[in-house]
Amino acid sequence: MTYDLSEVHEDFRRTCRAFTDQRVRPVVLEAERDGRPPERLWKEMGDAGLLGLLTPPDFGGSAGEGGEATAVAVLAEELTRACGGIAVSALVSAYMAAPHLVRHGTPAQQEHWVAALAAGEAIAAIAVTEPGAGSDVAGIGTRARRTGSGEHAEGSWVLDGRKMYITNAGLADVLVVGAKTDPGAGHRGITTFVVPAGTPGLSMGRPLAKMGWHSSDTREVVLDGVVLGEDAVLGVEGRGFHQIMDAFQLERVALAAMGVGHAAEALDTVTEYVRGREVAGEPLTGRQAIRHRLAAMEIELEAARVMTYKAADRLDRGHPEADRSVAAAKYFAAKAAAWIVDEAVQLFGGAGYLEETPIARHHRDVRILRIGGGTDEIQLEILAKRLVP
Ligand SMILES: Cc1cc2nc3c(=O)[nH]c(=O)nc-3n(C[C@H](O)[C@H](O)[C@H](O)COP(=O)(O)OP(=O)(O)OC[C@H]3O[C@@H](n4cnc5c(N)ncnc54)[C@H](O)[C@@H]3O)c2cc1C
Repeated sequence: MTYDLSEVHEDFRRTCRAFTDQRVRPVVLEAERDGRPPERLWKEMGDAGLLGLLTPPDFGGSAGEGGEATAVAVLAEELTRACGGIAVSALVSAYMAAPHLVRHGTPAQQEHWVAALAAGEAIAAIAVTEPGAGSDVAGIGTRARRTGSGEHAEGSWVLDGRKMYITNAGLADVLVVGAKTDPGAGHRGITTFVVPAGTPGLSMGRPLAKMGWHSSDTREVVLDGVVLGEDAVLGVEGRGFHQIMDAFQLERVALAAMGVGHAAEALDTVTEYVRGREVAGEPLTGRQAIRHRLAAMEIELEAARVMTYKAADRLDRGHPEADRSVAAAKYFAAKAAAWIVDEAVQLFGGAGYLEETPIARHHRDVRILRIGGGTDEIQLEILAKRLVP
């Protein structure tokens, strides 16, 4: 048992950090202003091997060595140190949407999308949440009806419904959409579909103005009589809920690791700031109240990091209790990160409250981690169900 990353993962961290410093930090302001990462960044991430960690080598990725979830956590942490909105755009495409195609896609679906997504030549979105159903995935109302004859070719599907808060919606070349194929069957009546952008009947709302993640594109998605062939079914009909729940595990590890990234960056930057700051002629670092605060932040960060990488490692090893570690890590890291970043704002004083400062951006961005990918309350419910069934 070890609490340190392997040399392979430490090497990968160095790769991610260098990429983040050279390619991501310089474009953060541009991305935050434009509401999306710059187009060229996708290809650069693809070329650097950052989008293919779960993709088999046949499709240009690097999966198969083991430790993939841990690598995704490392990437999430490092990208987030620069910018949560850019990080989540990449993570949603490569590690929240694309895994559905990698794991459940037909050979034709994989041929069409998997290599392109790993190369950063295509972007994916995952559309599950609806205006009336977020935490309650089984309660989604988007309907997929089989059409036997008449207007559409036999065996095709027609999708109708609305999806809400969909990351990458305005950029995506392909959406993985969850829909009810058998409304009477509860969670067993959900199926996922591959919906290419531009399919007639598929439309996106305007970008939603968000508290944070300004550089990610989030929109409502409308499916109005979207006609799809049988070949659009992704995975097994009626197994969509399980496929979505399964994908949530990596998604939650990535979100927990994003929390670690925000917290680590906040602690580093505020430590540097207080080192150089004098108040009433004395260095701030001479005051025990400040020194102890930094130490307490470090303890919380360490706990969040250990829990996050333990969860990633358990996921990588197929540990039977992986889902509990993932829920605990997602809950703890998101909350700890929000506290650490808030403490950092406090120690910056007025300089932490200026909208354009990096610390203010981290403060805006970290809040969503307690909501997206399953709220705090849902993680607690996962754990509570085991304790008091
Ligand atoms: C910026 C952003 C990006 C997003 N990106 C995507 C995306 O790409 N794809 C996608 O499909 N979704 C996405 N989401 C949706 C996100 O996953 C949901 O917002 C989240 O799961 C919560 O669902 P909800 O908003 O419907 O809240 P609700 O489910 O309505 O929850 C409201 C409150 O009730 C609590 N609650 C709900 N159920 C229970 C319960 N059983 N017990 C106790 N408390 C409960 C919740 O914890 C919460 O506090 C995104 C959201 C945002 C804000």
